[in-house]
Formats: sequence, C-alpha cells, structure tokens
Amino acid sequence: MSDWKARTKLVHGGIRRSQYNEVSEGIFLTQGFVYDNAEAAEARFIETGPDEFIYARYGNPTVSMFEQRIAMLEGAEDAFATASGMAAVNGALMSLVQAGDHVVSAKALFGSCLHILENILMKFGVEVTFVDGTNLDEWRAAVRPDTKVCFFESMSNPTLEVIDVAGVSEIAHAVGAKVVVDNVFSTPVFSKAVEQGADVIVYSATKHIDGQGRALGGVVIGTKEYIRGPLETYMKHTGGSLSPFNAWIMLKGLETIDLRVRAQAETALKIAEAVSGHGALLRTIYPGLKDHAQHALVQSQLAGNGGTVLSLDVKGGKEAAFKFLNALTIPVISNNLGDAKSIATHPATTTHQRLSDAQKTDLGISPGLIRFSVGLEDADDLIDDVQQALDASQK
Ligand SMILES: *Cc1c(COP(=O)(O)O)cnc(C)c1O
Repeated sequence: MSDWKARTKLVHGGIRRSQYNEVSEGIFLTQGFVYDNAEAAEARFIETGPDEFIYARYGNPTVSMFEQRIAMLEGAEDAFATASGMAAVNGALMSLVQAGDHVVSAKALFGSCLHILENILMKFGVEVTFVDGTNLDEWRAAVRPDTKVCFFESMSNPTLEVIDVAGVSEIAHAVGAKVVVDNVFSTPVFSKAVEQGADVIVYSATKHIDGQGRALGGVVIGTKEYIRGPLETYMKHTGGSLSPFNAWIMLKGLETIDLRVRAQAETALKIAEAVSGHGALLRTIYPGLKDHAQHALVQSQLAGNGGTVLSLDVKGGKEAAFKFLNALTIPVISNNLGDAKSIATHPATTTHQRLSDAQKTDLGISPGLIRFSVGLEDADDLIDDVQQALDASQK
C-alpha cells in the first residue's frame, strides 16, 4: 500500500470495514465502546491495541481512518486528527515546549497562529524570536542550543511568501530543534514536507481537505513516537479531538482533493496570467508566476505548483479594494479558502484587522490587497468577472 500513488492512497488509504463490509466509510457516531467483560476493560486500559478504542476523545474508528489516510499520503508514520486547524497548531506547539524553552518563528503568520506564539507561549515562559521566514540567514542567526521548535507557514497568508522547508530544517536540526510546518497554503497535494525535512506537519482540514466549506477540522502529522507520545497525550487530555462526523466529511474530502486542488491551481495560474499587468493592479502575487520572489524555490519545493490562492494589490487603497469586492459577481466575500466556491477577502479589514499599521506594512498587507481563493468555477467566467471588477475598482 505504501507503493500506491497519491490518488490511490486518497481513495483507499486507512479504510477499515465493519462486519457489514460497507463500501463507503462508516460513520461511527459513538463516544464509547463496550468491553466483553471486566477483564477486557482492564486489559484495554493497560494497553490499547491498534484496532481497539476506549473513548472518542482518545480515538474512534472513523477518525482513525482519516488519520491513517492523511499520514499515508504525506509519507509519515502517523497522524492525530483535531477539532480545528488551531487545535492542531496549539497541540503541536504545546506538546513540544515547556517554560524556559526557545522557539523561532516566521513572522508572516495567520492571526491565530501569531496569537499562540506571541501571547500564549510567552505567557507560559517560552521565549519566541520572530524572523523573516524567507531569509535563511535570519533563521541561522536566531537559533540557539535551547531552541526546541522552528515554526512557519510554508506559504504565508496572505502575501504568499514561500519558505524553504529543507533549508530551515537543516538549520533547525543542527541545534536539535524540531520543525513544525503549517502547510495549509501549500496543500497536501503539492507539498512533500516530510521528505524535505519537516518533523511535524499541521493542516487546517477546514480548508482544502474538506474543500466544500462544511466543517472545521485539523490534523497533526509526524512520527509514531511523537504522535502517539507527547502529541496524543496533550490532545486527549485537553479535549481538542475531531468529531467522527467531521472526520467522515474529511475522509470524503480526501477522495477528491487531488482533482480539486489541481483544477483550482490551474485556474489560479490562468487568472494570475490574465490579470497581471492590468492597469488597476500594483502587484499580482501568485507563486506559480515567473516573477514571484521565490520562483526557483516553488519549482524545487512544490514542483512548480503555485497553489489555489492568489493575491491582488489594487491601486487606490481600501476604497478601490472595496469597489473591486463589491463588483465581483461570482466569488463570494468571505474568509475561508480552499473552497469549491471562489472566495475574496480584504485582509487589512478582516483577517488581519487587529495588526498595527506598522505590522501590516512590514508584512506587505497593504490597504488595496485582496486575497483570492480560487474555486472550481469555469476559469474563463472567473477571468471575465475579475477583469470587470478591476475596471470597476478605478471608477
Ligand atoms: C485557517 C488556517 C488555520 C486555522 O484553521 P481552523 O481550521 O480555522 O482552526 C491555521 N493556519 C492557517 C495557515 C490557516 O489558513
């Protein structure tokens, strides 16, 4: 099974069938499991076998199918499913550090990730140094013998900087630190982060894994020793486990993720190519474009795939950006990404509203910046719509 190609793993990986031999994955909506006798209950609490369960906060057959399928896809030993992407980020970090430790993190982060590093970890006595994630010299200068974790989003939100997974891993491993990668924007379809040296990979399954905007979920991926050791211990006692029903949605999402994400990325590239150079734009940011700042890295790390999100910097600041958003007829204005529906977001006033003006400027979140998550609609329809909305933004 480990020789299977990605699409086969995505459809059949991790499957376990009940006595009915159902074709589609069963939803085991049960919080608990019955033991044949008192001795069996005692034995299961002493050692839980690979196909045995105690309580859904610890594990559940449907959740376990999802964990095994994503671990298999990533080429990792194991995975633990979580209630949301943030439960995964929090669990991955909290299970690896303690008071007095040091963490190095890229500064271009999703708002809630930044909150965990800047406020929660610091509150418990963990020191955090922020660096420009694209600059390996800054990582090299920041790591120390007491650095336990290097954390970054492999493709940052919303400015789509690409960070060198292999490069940071080499620097981190030289001081014995673990590399934790939030891989949402790179997607499980295009990223090979385990191969490239990452120790722990985190996804918000809410994004491309569900892919149809239905449910929250997340997953932490790594070695069996880490996942069934410190990570499971932290997660099962703090309560951030994934519900079996949401795990089933994510399993169904994985079946089609390769087709969806490839189609979305193909359309994203077409839109980026069609609109770049439009008179209403200061910048078109898309990792698949030749003029992207880390174009060479995108070739080596993501086999040239630029992902499903592009960012457009509209001339005329917030006013023009709002005119652009309000003129769109197909994409919806919202803040999820990786959805079948194209979604446009104005980060400066929504997802990144709480940052100071100085932080926004530092991170390139300009008043005219639009994040555009490309969906499964027809590419030509989307190009026409974006172009007319760009024209409208300047009127
Ligand atoms: C959405 C997102 C998260 C958080 O995921 P939730 O499922 O909303 O908790 C974390 N990191 C990145 C990069 C994200 O895009």
